[in-house]
Amino acid sequence: MHNHEPVGYDCPFCFLLAGGETALDSPRDVVFRSERATAFTAARWWPNNHGHVLVIPNAHYENLYDLPSEYGHAVHDVIREVAVAMRATYGCDGVSTRQHNEPAGGWVYTDLLRDYFDSLPST
Ligand SMILES: [Zn+2]
Repeated sequence: MHNHEPVGYDCPFCFLLAGGETALDSPRDVVFRSERATAFTAARWWPNNHGHVLVIPNAHYENLYDLPSEYGHAVHDVIREVAVAMRATYGCDGVSTRQHNEPAGGWVYTDLLRDYFDSLPST
């Protein structure tokens, strides 16, 4: 539904999940993996917000509209684990989670056509 992905799109996050390494992502960045979702440190951190982690479903979906509930639930379970770990590790005052759909929904990287969630410690 409302997809922007070109035919033959080569998804870097699916490549990572399959054990691939790019200039930005490596399997060594994975911090948690369940049957249906994976968390890994982000290649780019937000300014003044170190500790950025991405959480993705273990199957390719471009956006939240298409994400089946079993993957959505698994993603949120992993987001909770990451949030608890961030709170304990960084001693931050809170944790934020963000997710964007389509260019008008605030895509940060318009060449990354895959659903992902940002988890960020906040002070
Ligand atoms: Zn993918």
